[in-house]
Amino acid sequence: MTVEHIYLAKPRGFCAGVVMAIQAVEKAAVREEKPVTVYHSIVHNHTVVERLSSGGRVHFVEDLDGVDALPDGGDTVIFSAHGISPAVRERARSLGLATIDATCPLVTKVHTEAKKYAREGYTILLIGDSAKHQEVIGTRGEAPDNTILVGVLGKTGAGLHDPHTVEVPDPERLVVLTQTTLSVDDTRKTIEILKGRFPALVVPPSEDLCYATKNRQDAVKNIAPQVDAFLVLTSTHSSNGMRLLELAEAECGRAYRLETAADLAGLDLSGVRSIGITSAASTPDDLVQDVVAHFRSLNPALQVTEEGEWENIEFREPKKILPTQELPRTMQ
Ligand code: SF4
Repeated sequence: MTVEHIYLAKPRGFCAGVVMAIQAVEKAAVREEKPVTVYHSIVHNHTVVERLSSGGRVHFVEDLDGVDALPDGGDTVIFSAHGISPAVRERARSLGLATIDATCPLVTKVHTEAKKYAREGYTILLIGDSAKHQEVIGTRGEAPDNTILVGVLGKTGAGLHDPHTVEVPDPERLVVLTQTTLSVDDTRKTIEILKGRFPALVVPPSEDLCYATKNRQDAVKNIAPQVDAFLVLTSTHSSNGMRLLELAEAECGRAYRLETAADLAGLDLSGVRSIGITSAASTPDDLVQDVVAHFRSLNPALQVTEEGEWENIEFREPKKILPTQELPRTMQ
């Protein structure tokens, strides 16, 4: 059976935080005399990391102590869009590394909230989808003694407490913060459970889930009723991308993850005439266009519809901070 109609989710793909972070690496790689080092994957997408690595001007490390061992490694480290804990920033300073902080400002906002509430003596219930996610590690690191990790509804274990049973030292001094890239619906339900158990729970007025997460999930919901199957282009370690995959599966009943168009070869799309396509906030759009081109090559009469609106948000380029310089106030 031939695929006749593709519905492209809009928005999909790169968010403002990802664009800012990738450009920070690209510009530093050109500007710096020696290759630059990125702490952790700059964004959670294999193709992006491969492309940045391919010129030999960018190295990726998971431990700053590895910088010394890099051949031709320079003295500039870039922090990824997911943010870092203060301990990593301090380690960079102690190693004498200049830093470029490509943390998304929407993650920094959550860090600022965590520091504020910890200073005021609150316990922070931090909702996340994995205790090992870089963003969760970074946010928790701002207030490790005040933070309890809570799993989003239905996802507990491995360092995450169940919202139904989590214990807190003082239910009257309690605030909930969240990872930025969770399921909107599951996060709302998780907060409702916590609020039911702890009526004094403070929920910050501006939700921590970011605009890109919400908009990409809404776009999937809009398209799902019209399609037989959904394709989601994402790496498995992209939190927002995997939430799109789960949502597409729930809304449409048939959803598949692709890293690139090469993965189409392994898919059984029998009975599928219409397909929805979306992509994680860290997935380059040319990977989506490759998938469309594949289906067009099989059916030149393929119809392609793009629903929704693009976003119009930009974040400022991060500045390089020398190890001897004072940190900007927002980073302290
Ligand atoms: Fe920032 Fe949201 Fe993009 Fe993450 S997904 S980089 S929080 S805008």
